[in-house]
Amino acid sequence: MSMSFSQDEQRLLEANDCVVAALAGVAAECDRDRCPPREAWTAYVAAGLKGLLTPKDKGGHAARAAVMTRMSEALGAVDPIGAITFLPQEYCIAAIAQFGQHAWHDEIRATLLAGAKTTGFVLTEPGAGSDAARITTLASRTSEGWRIDGVKAWVTNAPYIDEYFVFVQTEAGSGAAGIAGFLVPRDAPGLTVSAPYELLGGHIGNICDLHLDDVRIAPERLVVPPGMGLRAALSAIDLARINVAAMCCGALATGLAVALDYTTQRHAFGRPIAQFQGLQWQLAEVATDLHASRLMTYDAADALDQSGRASVEAAHAKKFATRAALRGLDVCMSQMGANGLKRDCGLPRLFEHVKIAHSLDGTTDIQNVVISRALLAPYRERLGA
Ligand SMILES: Cc1cc2nc3c(=O)[nH]c(=O)nc-3n(C[C@H](O)[C@H](O)[C@H](O)COP(=O)(O)OP(=O)(O)OC[C@H]3O[C@@H](n4cnc5c(N)ncnc54)[C@H](O)[C@@H]3O)c2cc1C
Repeated sequence: MSMSFSQDEQRLLEANDCVVAALAGVAAECDRDRCPPREAWTAYVAAGLKGLLTPKDKGGHAARAAVMTRMSEALGAVDPIGAITFLPQEYCIAAIAQFGQHAWHDEIRATLLAGAKTTGFVLTEPGAGSDAARITTLASRTSEGWRIDGVKAWVTNAPYIDEYFVFVQTEAGSGAAGIAGFLVPRDAPGLTVSAPYELLGGHIGNICDLHLDDVRIAPERLVVPPGMGLRAALSAIDLARINVAAMCCGALATGLAVALDYTTQRHAFGRPIAQFQGLQWQLAEVATDLHASRLMTYDAADALDQSGRASVEAAHAKKFATRAALRGLDVCMSQMGANGLKRDCGLPRLFEHVKIAHSLDGTTDIQNVVISRALLAPYRERLGA
């Protein structure tokens, strides 16, 4: 599938190449040492990429999903979890642009777009993941603003965020009808960040819990009013899923390239191992899966750009590309024999990241919920639903 890009879009893609190069220089070290890819974040700001999803009249680029997809694929080819350290910020800045009504919202948006401060997306809780309407962290009105109490979980970049975009309940037990979005500063008394999680991998993401204990904030820090919070939080979910699919395409492309390079040089039984048909056909299967993943991902991005909705296309793409990447990287590592297990070949890190990507922005089961709901919609009467 060929895609054409305008000159402005080409410039964004070229600027992204600098970020990819910066990420490539630090990714393995950051993952090992559990630190953020600061050099890549600096390159991102220097390249003028902040505001990718923010409308142009509010200081952003209003980039099409097709462009975001190519950027995510290039970043994912280097480090998929490193790639997700950029995107949640963009979803938050776009939400501030969409919902902000107060002069302070314009100020903070400008500060975030300039890269002078960072933000991050805080929805999940220890007791509520896929079913986000069940969150219980509570914001109550006070005479001076709001008080927030509760625990949030799985916050990417948590120790390095200046302004947390926190989605909370404003009326206990009211589900989506009570959810609102607030900006909470890192230095707010009562806010503490846990140590980063010990995970299978992906430590570049510095994922932590956030504890909010009697945190008091000013009224203007309410950005998304009660009742609109869940919609705001999930408004970019199709794009987020397409981006995860694109990152997995990138990771699998790297796996295939590394395996081809290795198997055409490594000799066994008097010939390069790539001459064994068993290996050739395994590589051909990986290449087919990669091609199919890309087609689904680009198609979902195109559908989103054309119609503003691509729930089913995004679900297919995310489900297929994450599975294909996990299966394909397994094959690529196996083709390298024991050497495929060594961290310095780069593939174990990618393998860990694509495994983690299965849980990100909706698990594979949740993609199946979306797909089957659409499949069964015409039969609603027959099913009595
Ligand atoms: C690397 C990473 C980074 C993340 N970053 C952030 C972040 O920055 N901010 C944030 O808010 N969150 C973040 N998350 C959290 C992520 O959004 C949640 O993990 C995700 O929503 C799934 O929730 P859960 O893990 O609690 O699983 P649960 O919802 O508890 O699901 C458990 C199991 O039940 C299955 N299941 C649930 N419902 C159904 C159903 N209806 N039908 C069939 N099966 C079902 C799931 O597929 C899963 O297998 C991150 C997660 C990861 C892995």
